Amino acid sequence: SRTPLIAGNWKMNLDHLQAVAFVQKLHWTLKDAKHEDGTVEVAIFPPFTDLRSVQTLIDADKIPFAFGAQDLSQHDSGAYTGEISGAFLAKLDASYVIIGHSERREYHAESDEIVAAKTKAAITHGLVPVICVGETAEDLEKFGASAVPAGQLETALQGLDAKADIVIAYEPVWAIGSGQAATPQQAQDVCAVLRGVIAKVLGDEAAARTRILYGGSVKSANIAGFMREPDVDGALVGGASLVVDEFAAIVRYQK
Ligand code: 13P
Repeated sequence: SRTPLIAGNWKMNLDHLQAVAFVQKLHWTLKDAKHEDGTVEVAIFPPFTDLRSVQTLIDADKIPFAFGAQDLSQHDSGAYTGEISGAFLAKLDASYVIIGHSERREYHAESDEIVAAKTKAAITHGLVPVICVGETAEDLEKFGASAVPAGQLETALQGLDAKADIVIAYEPVWAIGSGQAATPQQAQDVCAVLRGVIAKVLGDEAAARTRILYGGSVKSANIAGFMREPDVDGALVGGASLVVDEFAAIVRYQK
């Protein structure tokens, strides 16, 4: 009964003019697709500078896509040059915000504690955090697939209200942008462990309700295999979300 979520993380691609053209074309391409009746939810995550244009377009044309930002500040306001408050994102009608993507963890030194603080900030402002966890190739070799992502998730969930609306994205770092996706079984195994972490920290009801996405080299040719797995509730798509026909084909996956 969890509504599948197909999410496109654009990363640092597509300026606001390109974003408007992209969203219009995607909407046109997906007309009559199953997301129109709520069977599948579609969400896009453009760069900050695109968000106002995307909001205006989605609102004006009643386009049934959710959108969100790729990061936020853990602070509400103040002397934090270059940062973006969750309050600003909420005011733009953003529904979601990605938190703790491996590129933020790697290039911006985001610790599990910062990810936890950002998760709390998102929830405070009424945004649904998409909390990203995943192991590097080195972690995989040393500790197996699930130990590192399970630990990251446990820290991120500390102190949250059990009723909080959250989304988890399992993104093995070795699978991101590599063309080397996890197998559906590998994704399932870790997503099942992550659901157990949610149950342990927030309780069984939260675990049953929370969507867990797989991310890492998802494309139209492999999406169906992931969606067949019982604990995989959608995908967080990078590169393949930047091509309208390819992303539309992912949204239209057949189990
Ligand atoms: P790719 O789909 O390009 O591997 O990226 C995955 C990702 O990092 C989504 O957040």
